[in-house]
Formats: sequence, C-alpha cells, structure tokens
Amino acid sequence: VTIAIGIDIGGTKTAVGLVDSTGCLRSRTAFATDSRAGFLDGVGRMAAAVQRLAAQAGIELRTLSGLGIGCPGPVNPVRGTIHNPYTLPGWPDGCNLVAALRDRLDLPVRLENDADAAAMGEAFAGAARGAGRVVMLTFGTGIGSGILIDGAIYRGCAGDHPELGHILVNTDGPPCYCGTRGCFESLASGTAIGEAGKACGFADSRAVFEAAAAGAERAQQIIQRATEATFVAAWALLHTFLPERVVLGGGLAEEHYELFAEPFRRAIMAATLVPRDRLEVVRARLGNDAGVVGAASLLLRHRPD
Ligand SMILES: [Zn+2]
Repeated sequence: VTIAIGIDIGGTKTAVGLVDSTGCLRSRTAFATDSRAGFLDGVGRMAAAVQRLAAQAGIELRTLSGLGIGCPGPVNPVRGTIHNPYTLPGWPDGCNLVAALRDRLDLPVRLENDADAAAMGEAFAGAARGAGRVVMLTFGTGIGSGILIDGAIYRGCAGDHPELGHILVNTDGPPCYCGTRGCFESLASGTAIGEAGKACGFADSRAVFEAAAAGAERAQQIIQRATEATFVAAWALLHTFLPERVVLGGGLAEEHYELFAEPFRRAIMAATLVPRDRLEVVRARLGNDAGVVGAASLLLRHRPD
C-alpha cells in the first residue's frame, strides 16, 4: 500500500488528507484558505499541514508517493500555475504552487482543476469506479465539470479545463459572467436559483426549494427553469461524449438528487442516438472528500480492486 497527500483548495477552506492506494482517506485536516494573507503564507500553512498529518500518522515524508492539489481554475496543470484572482484574492496571477510546495517538501507535486480532481476521486474510490467514459457535474454555487476518457482527464488546448457550466441553454436567459446570456450555470446553479428567488421575495436558494416542496407556484417555476436547463445541457453532453456514467455531485445535487438526475434520465429516454442501456446516472459518493482523494490519486499508481 502506498500513500499520497491530497490538498483541496477552496475559496474559503483548504482540506489536506492522507490517502492510500486502496482509496481510503486515512486522516484529514482543514483550515481557512485566507488567500488575502498572501501566496507564501498559504504555501507555508499547506506545507505545515502536510508535515503535521504525516507526523501524526508516523509516516516519513520521503516515503510518500507525492502530493496532489485540486484548485479552483483557471490553473495550468502543465506549468503548475494558478490564475484565479477571483476565488483566491491575494495570490498573484501565475503563482507556481507546484514549484513552491516541491521546494518546501521535496516531494513530487501535481496540480489539477478542482472539478477534475473531484472526478478523479470518484473514479478512484467512488461512484465512477470502473467506468471509462465519465461526465461528472457538481451543482453548488456554480456548476463544476470533469470529463474522464479511459480514466484520464479530458483537456482542451494548452491543457485548459473545459467548463460545461457554460454550455449555452437559452440566449434569452440571464447574463453570465462569461460574457453571454443563458448559460447552463446561469440557470441551474445554486447562485442562479437564489438570484431568481430573491426577485420573487425568497431569501436564498434553500428557501426556493422549501417553498417549491410546499407547493408555491413561483418557487416551482424557478426550480423548473433549472431542471429544464439541466435537460438541455444533458442532451448536449450525452450526444457529445456518449459517456457510460454520469456522476452528479455538489451540495445542491446531493440534497435534491432526483431533481437533477431526472432531466438526464428524460434526455436518455428521449434520445435515439444515445446507447441508453449502457448509460448510468448516479449520485456522487465521496461528498466533500472527492477533491482530496482525487488530488492524492494523481500520485497513486495502484488502482483499488
Ligand atoms: Zn457562462
């Protein structure tokens, strides 16, 4: 059994874990990301957490396979650089996290987009195990996506991460920060549901779901707009990738799984060009740990049984 470290960086929290080659998360810790304290401060706290976890487990650093990092994009996995002043204010554009941690810890280090890391985690030890072609979507504040082809992360040109959340669903929809209108994410993310809810007097997305369950028509229309957008995006995704498994995760999909899974099933049943008998839609299994497990799995050769 070999062991690697996984780090999952989020806008507010960073989680660090020890993961073994069977996919077991042996121990974990978390702390505030606090990127405003600066890049070197963040590197120092991540390195200290790695050393602490290893010491607590009685493991020498040099015996670890290495360290994998999942970070909100844009990131450059080839160069190891981060280009995200929006989620990580205080970290300079192009800061090289791979080089910084490799210098501190003298371990092999790899970096991936956080949604790709989560998909790798589900493939290594969760709901995508054993599937070659996987599309994973995470519904939360935004819509994250990871595409796996024969177990490897699908990349765009220059190693860039494809953002399925910006599939165009309705050009009359609300404006999206990417510059167009009516993206999947601008209609079906937690933020989109919350914003539409506020315009009708609901406090947040949770209030919209509660009111819809209680029969409020305005709230039901907002949820229906999100599930219709999910259907249109599902149609595009299924025809583009012909995946064998679609994994739905993220806080919103885990709490309201059927609402997000149903549009996919509807698309599968309506499409004649998609091999419906070989396509499964499943719920993510690792929850918040998917990022840490997936990041570590980048350094773990042995796949679980
Ligand atoms: Zn967009």
